[in-house]
Amino acid sequence: MFKRKGLLIKLKILLPVGFIIIAVISIITYWFIYTSIKTFNAQMEKNLELEVMTISKMFERESILKLKNVQTNLKVANQQFYEYPLEVLNESMIIDVENQKTGQKHKASIHKWTHNHVNLYGNNEFVDKTQEIIGGTISIFQKIDSGFVRVATNVKKIDGSRAIGTYIPNNSPVVESIKKGQTYYGRAFVVNEWYTTAYEPIVANNEIVGIVYVGDKEKDLAELKKILYTLKVGKSGYPFVFDKNGYMLIHPTHEGETWSDSLFLNPLRKSNQGVFYFRLDDRDKTIAFTYFDKFELYIGASIISKIENKDLINDAIIAASVVGLIAILFLIVFIYYFTTERIYEFMKMLQVSNKKLADAELALKQSEKLATMGQISAGIAHELNNPLGVITMYSNIILDELKEGDPHIKDVKLIVEQADRCKGIVGGLLNFARKNKLKPQEVNIKEFVQRSLDSVVIPANVKTHIHSNINDGNIMIDKDQMMQVFTNLEKNACEAMPDGGDLTIDIDGDDTNIIIKISDTGTGIAEENIDKLFTPFFTTKEIGKGTGLGLPLVYGIVKMHRGKIEVVSNADSTSGKTGTTFTLTIPRVF
Ligand code: ADP
Ligand code: MG
Repeated sequence: MFKRKGLLIKLKILLPVGFIIIAVISIITYWFIYTSIKTFNAQMEKNLELEVMTISKMFERESILKLKNVQTNLKVANQQFYEYPLEVLNESMIIDVENQKTGQKHKASIHKWTHNHVNLYGNNEFVDKTQEIIGGTISIFQKIDSGFVRVATNVKKIDGSRAIGTYIPNNSPVVESIKKGQTYYGRAFVVNEWYTTAYEPIVANNEIVGIVYVGDKEKDLAELKKILYTLKVGKSGYPFVFDKNGYMLIHPTHEGETWSDSLFLNPLRKSNQGVFYFRLDDRDKTIAFTYFDKFELYIGASIISKIENKDLINDAIIAASVVGLIAILFLIVFIYYFTTERIYEFMKMLQVSNKKLADAELALKQSEKLATMGQISAGIAHELNNPLGVITMYSNIILDELKEGDPHIKDVKLIVEQADRCKGIVGGLLNFARKNKLKPQEVNIKEFVQRSLDSVVIPANVKTHIHSNINDGNIMIDKDQMMQVFTNLEKNACEAMPDGGDLTIDIDGDDTNIIIKISDTGTGIAEENIDKLFTPFFTTKEIGKGTGLGLPLVYGIVKMHRGKIEVVSNADSTSGKTGTTFTLTIPRVF
């Protein structure tokens, strides 16, 4: 019962502290998970941007390679061109020309050229043959007043026909460079697409009369597609390429579509690279992009954030929860042992000392009562002693003087008898009053107990027993007063056994105390009387027989020996054998 109550108190102390711990650790755990996810998402965005950068590097390399390729091709084409004889005739011809930039059509005059003895204008044999060797496109240009016009070419117009007759106008950087006699490398918008191009002037009679051109489509989308399709970003991501207008050039599922969605295009218009979030096909996507200006394309890579961080979130939650729980458990156990247990012990100690204080107060009251009693009794006894002496003396004289057979003899005898009894009571009171000082003497307790039994009249139907469980029975006591303790208890025991029984005295103890149990098999003490036993004048015996001073006297003497007296009794025959046991605990030295 006490244990359960203790647990309850400990829980009460622990509960608020435990609650605070759980709250704090839960917040820390939540914070940890939150920051883990944030860090992971940031890392993911970085990776995505890195991926996009890698792809643009790939594009960059592709363009450099293309340029180199074109440079080599130009050399080869030039070599091929001059392998055959070129003749620039004086004879002129009028042809239809078209400005490739403005689309303006008009007539122009060109000199007749023979290449390998064949009229060059409209003769594509050479360009097609060279194309077989180097790939790409090859053109031969001739000078006209407004620029350089294609006379042989395998560059195609939108309608699929060869671009013969189209010309590069004079104001273009290509023409400016060629007119200075310089080879031109770079990008050029040829008919309808950007090409990586190279232009070499054709010189005849110290005059720049034409151009050999080679070109390759700047971006080989088919080639890039192949590579990009195989690239995966994380678990859920892929790269994709689109142009300024949101036209999807390369995309695993949306290729060929134009995304005019402002949500998608707005972030791109604001800056040349970055990260934005976009909801597509019911999924939240994180998209990194960069603008690759050489190709005029956006390169992007997207991932579905939820798929990427799902495992991490799960792991983080599990790990953080486990760590959090362990921390909570550890802290609670720690606090339980180092705080709760201590507070509880302290409370218990407080309780014990409170009880001791209450006991001490009770004992003090009792001894105060006894002291007052002692003074009153001493006074009364003193006052009564003299008149009683007179009564005894004179009643004895009267008894002596009365002749035998006198009818008053019986009455006077009664006076003498009752006066004697009064003297006995007064003697008891004086004893009680004299208890203040002790004369310690060493005695053997077993012998002492035996002697006490010898000085009490034991009825024939009462059997006495002494049991000793100690070897060393030496104890310091006031012999006379302690004798009164034993005789009083023994007398009470005998008086409680009118029909006979056993009076047993057990002697026990240790180095510091001797414990004596005086037990009888008598009537027992009613429960409601137990508390009154040591109160002066409490008696259940008929008037004239009991004084109610025995046990208060016993109590006083035992207390003066710094001892203790306890009583256990059963007066109810239905709950077992009746009887009483007084237990005395007396220190060997007081
Ligand atoms: P008295 O013996 O004069 O009555 P005590 O102070 O010695 O006074 O005892 C007070 C009362 O305690 C007794 O009247 C009796 O009721 C009870 N008592 C004491 N000892 C015993 C005992 N061994 N068995 C039963 N009752 C007892
Ligand atoms: Mg008595």
